[in-house]
Amino acid sequence: MARGLAGAMTVRTRFAPSPTGVLHVGGARTALFCWLQARAAGGQFILRIEDTDLERSTAESVQAILDGMDWLGLDYDEGPHYQSQRFERYAAVAEELLAQGKAYRCYCSKQRLEALRAQQMQAGLKPRYDGHCRDGAAGAGETSPVVRFRNPADGTVVFEDLVRGTIRISNAELDDLVIARPDGSPTYNFTVVVDDLDMRITHVIRGDDHINNTPRQINIYRALGAEPPAFAHVPMILGADGARLSKRHGAVGVMQYRDLGYLPQALLNYLVRLGWSHGDQEVFSVAELLERFDVRDVNRKAAAFDPDKLDWLNQHYQRSLPAAEVAGHLAWQFEALGIDAGAGPPLTDLVGVQADRVKTLREMAEQSRVFYQELEGFEAGAARKHLRPVCEPVLRALRERLRDLVDWSPESLNNVVRIVADELEVGMGKVAQPLRVALAGSAVSPSIDRTLWLVGRDRSLRRLDDALEYVVFRAERH
Ligand code: GLU
Repeated sequence: MARGLAGAMTVRTRFAPSPTGVLHVGGARTALFCWLQARAAGGQFILRIEDTDLERSTAESVQAILDGMDWLGLDYDEGPHYQSQRFERYAAVAEELLAQGKAYRCYCSKQRLEALRAQQMQAGLKPRYDGHCRDGAAGAGETSPVVRFRNPADGTVVFEDLVRGTIRISNAELDDLVIARPDGSPTYNFTVVVDDLDMRITHVIRGDDHINNTPRQINIYRALGAEPPAFAHVPMILGADGARLSKRHGAVGVMQYRDLGYLPQALLNYLVRLGWSHGDQEVFSVAELLERFDVRDVNRKAAAFDPDKLDWLNQHYQRSLPAAEVAGHLAWQFEALGIDAGAGPPLTDLVGVQADRVKTLREMAEQSRVFYQELEGFEAGAARKHLRPVCEPVLRALRERLRDLVDWSPESLNNVVRIVADELEVGMGKVAQPLRVALAGSAVSPSIDRTLWLVGRDRSLRRLDDALEYVVFRAERH
């Protein structure tokens, strides 16, 4: 259970992305923290799409966010709510504030505001609205007004950020924020408060790029007669060079990681550790996270993205998750690469053999073509070195025994290779390497018994025939 909360309160968190692009790893980590905080406390997690910016918001981006959440397994109890469907509600709340004198209409022209701004900048002051329309609407009727929130003139806003500690901002620093534009459309700081109130959010967990908005939002809560929720502002994710993580550091979209062959479990585990820790433990199951995670333990300092660690975690999950689960994700890679998974061994067998040998599922698929597709010939160097005329008896002996082998299992296959080596009085390598090149077309493949096992009997015999043909042809040319 979350510490320090009134027993009866159900924890409700929300993830509130603006649909102006794909779900990137920073957003995904915020969503994960929100999800964990709610789930760990038996509470609810809500998804809210902040699409008030109708020009920049797109349906594709909404879909990309939903896909990303779905792939990561971050399920929500409510939503998606769409802010674009709640404009009437925001307008009603703005009217309420106007009626109570907690907001006012401002008729200042663009020119006046620009001149004011220029003046303040020149005087070395922070640009802020000067309250010109606060006490009576100068110029009423001339232009369509905006609605401004009447920010308290004095006093200090203090809040206890669950990550950053006590934050104090003097109201003298804050000006009267526009909450509705001339066309009536609401602004971010206003919609977010109305929604977090209506949706009974108890913990607002978000990126610390929003920390300057929080005092303004707290004032709006109070004006609406409500107590603000708890806030936790989590630090940005940085690239290895210390700059804010961006495209130039590599993949930033969650689904790009799927495409690159990472398991969602690996990415989740990786993201949770970026900025949160429990001792020096690196690997966490979701069950363990639900037991241990508390947003209060998130680090204040920004963490840097470390691709090697993600690779390491991915390999860990490839090895340790049930093979059937890994195979499900691998199937997606096969499709993406146009490899027919039905044309070879079950993917679960493949996972068992390859998980240790590659870092990602993409590599796994790419390096497993030989088990599903016909060879495009033998790699020249490998063939020259290993498929020499002296191999002919080895390949023939192998072919015969493999044809007659009853039990096509790695153990029996290993025996066959050993027996052939013994019989012909050559080392195992002198049998395994020609066989490997025959089966895989190159000198690199899993252990020879497993390679045989995955290639399967019919394909193995056919490839041995091709290798024999190659060897004989070479002998004849000498
Ligand atoms: N829509 C905002 C964003 O995507 C988040 C707002 C919030 O979490 O309060 O940055």
